[in-house]
Amino acid sequence: MSEAQYQVRDGIGVITLNNPPVNGLGNALRAGVMEHLKKADADPAVSAVVIIGTAKFFSGGADIREFNAKRLPPDLPDVNNQQDAMKKPLVAAIGGFALGGGLELALACHYRIASSRSQVGLPEVKLGILPGSGGTQRLPRILPMAEAVRLMTTGAMLPVEKAKEFGLIDEIVTGDLLEGALSFTKSILGKPTRRIRDLKAKLDGDPKAFFGQVREQVAKASRGYPAPLEIVACAEVAATLPFDEGRKFERARFDVLVKTTESQSLRHAFFAERQTAKIPDVPEDTPVREIRKAAVIGAGTMGGGIAMNFANAGIPVTIVDMTQDALDKGLSKIKSNYAATVSKGRLKQDEMDKRMSLISAKTNLDEIKSADIVIEAVFERMDVKQEMFRKLDGIAKPGAILATNTSTLDVDQIAAATTRPQDVIGTHFFSPANVMRLLEVVRAKKTGKDVLATTMKLGKALKKVPVVSGVCDGFIGNRMLEKYGQQSLFLLDEGASPQQVDGAMAKFGMAMGPFTMYDMAGNDIGWDIRKRRYQERPDFIYSKIADRICEQGRFGQKTGKGFYKYEPGNRKPIPDPEAEKIFAAYRKEIGVKAKTISDEEIVQRLVYALVNEGANILDEGIALRASDIDMVYLTGYGFPPYRGGPMFYADTVGLDKVLASIQSFQKGYQGIAWKPAPLLVKLAKEGRRFNQ
Ligand code: NAD
Repeated sequence: MSEAQYQVRDGIGVITLNNPPVNGLGNALRAGVMEHLKKADADPAVSAVVIIGTAKFFSGGADIREFNAKRLPPDLPDVNNQQDAMKKPLVAAIGGFALGGGLELALACHYRIASSRSQVGLPEVKLGILPGSGGTQRLPRILPMAEAVRLMTTGAMLPVEKAKEFGLIDEIVTGDLLEGALSFTKSILGKPTRRIRDLKAKLDGDPKAFFGQVREQVAKASRGYPAPLEIVACAEVAATLPFDEGRKFERARFDVLVKTTESQSLRHAFFAERQTAKIPDVPEDTPVREIRKAAVIGAGTMGGGIAMNFANAGIPVTIVDMTQDALDKGLSKIKSNYAATVSKGRLKQDEMDKRMSLISAKTNLDEIKSADIVIEAVFERMDVKQEMFRKLDGIAKPGAILATNTSTLDVDQIAAATTRPQDVIGTHFFSPANVMRLLEVVRAKKTGKDVLATTMKLGKALKKVPVVSGVCDGFIGNRMLEKYGQQSLFLLDEGASPQQVDGAMAKFGMAMGPFTMYDMAGNDIGWDIRKRRYQERPDFIYSKIADRICEQGRFGQKTGKGFYKYEPGNRKPIPDPEAEKIFAAYRKEIGVKAKTISDEEIVQRLVYALVNEGANILDEGIALRASDIDMVYLTGYGFPPYRGGPMFYADTVGLDKVLASIQSFQKGYQGIAWKPAPLLVKLAKEGRRFNQ
């Protein structure tokens, strides 16, 4: 079936966009629209034309896959030119979303009507590009300039009611959209045709002063992203040059942006997110179990946040802890989290009440009996976990999924404590669990395919990005982080300061540097892990510099001192001469003379430590694909989206160069800790990439 259908109703040509699921404006759809526009314009029996999509999507915009290839004509600007050339009135009938190229298609129509609850927007900036088909020139001619710039530089959506106030939408239709479109079109027949291109940009006052100020604001908010400032430049052109010149300028800037590494990385992340749910041996039609009720064991840091996820999704959840006191503490934390969101105006009080009413708290484990999934979030000890799973096995109803939130323990061993290992799986949430989007779904040896499929689907329902990981110590994210942490401490041994390392990583784009992160998480946590490692993995080399910090009781923010110091009630890390003394004493102890290390080396050692371990994880099949590893770091560890994740970043640098750097680190301080991953060596030799 053609992707654009055409019919004539009451003398009005109706072009229906039909490219499920979102009416992406791929080549075939564009060609279809073009052909039907021409046909309608030439047909004396047709007096006007309506373009309409589905009830949910007028159009979600360009087909992003085409950005990586040579685009076949007609391109969207060609379709827009045809729209401009139409002699007959052209009406866009928007149902649901008109986004990006979809809104540009609508803006090039002469009138726009929309069903209630529709939304429009130009979110191109989120992919590192700009609206390249007249969007930057038409939007400021119909919306006030400041509003147009806000929408385009943030990618925010505009609800239809607001769009109507501004005149972007001519009429809101409450009944059937097509019938509404036909009757609206009849009402404008004979009236002069209006084109947005013929209007002047809506800017009062001096453009120079206005854009000077806007540029300053946008530059501050868009660190590392090239597109927002280019959008401002296009908007300025819309205010100062004729429309056709503005179009040319816009297209030239688009062509530059689409080739930037930043945009390629953001597009990679967009696709990577959609890939994670695809599991080669678990087909999409694998039957799933229904999750109507949930239970969480442990009302601590993680349990409370996990329970909030269920309540947010409208799923009743029972939290079980050993004492009423623990439950009370957990519930009051949940309440204060919700209350903070209400006070910021992001949640209504009645919605908070509804969510709180979905959470019940019990001390009796028998209360989990009716749950379809039980997520255990008790202390991180194998004996405690196994004991809990033995009990859950005896209580949970048949077919219930038994999940563990362990961060490091062997899920196969936990499953072995039950008589139903096929129902056991890992659900590794990240802290704070109600905020962080990453969910590592740990597939144990005996986990059933339906259990895996159900958990992935549940992850999406909880608005997480579920990524499958095999069983190994630390799973994908923390196993890589250990190598990153190891290097961060070696850098201190050699003479770098926490603020230099954190500064270099912040400049690279990480949400925070490693030492700020350690101080925030609590240095005692890492210390406990290292103490365990000293026993289990004597082959693994650690700097003891962090132990020296912990030996002084410097556990980070919670004790007011760590790698940095902190003012009471303030989380801002302040470089601390006392800590410097501890570092200097440690260097003396191990006989290392402090030297200067470049920011470039810092970034390479930390990021390539992630990449090298990521390659091992990929090679061992712990991760299904390189882009899954990227998603773990983008959604769980603050890796900058415009770098695409560690594996994609390595691809953009070139694997041969990454390997050469790692080989040079082998000759440097603690070079013995570097072993180039066999997969990295192989791909580098073959001139290939991690992300094919
Ligand atoms: P926590 O100490 O804050 O909370 C644990 C809770 O479990 C406590 O309230 C405790 O009373 C309760 N509990 C212990 N044994 C119990 C039992 N037998 N029955 C009922 N309740 C019991 O710990 P947390 O930080 O929430 O961690 C929980 C789990 O999540 C651990 O496995 C941890 O490794 C994992 N995890 C933690 C983080 C994090 O950042 N804190 C991140 C990811 C995963």
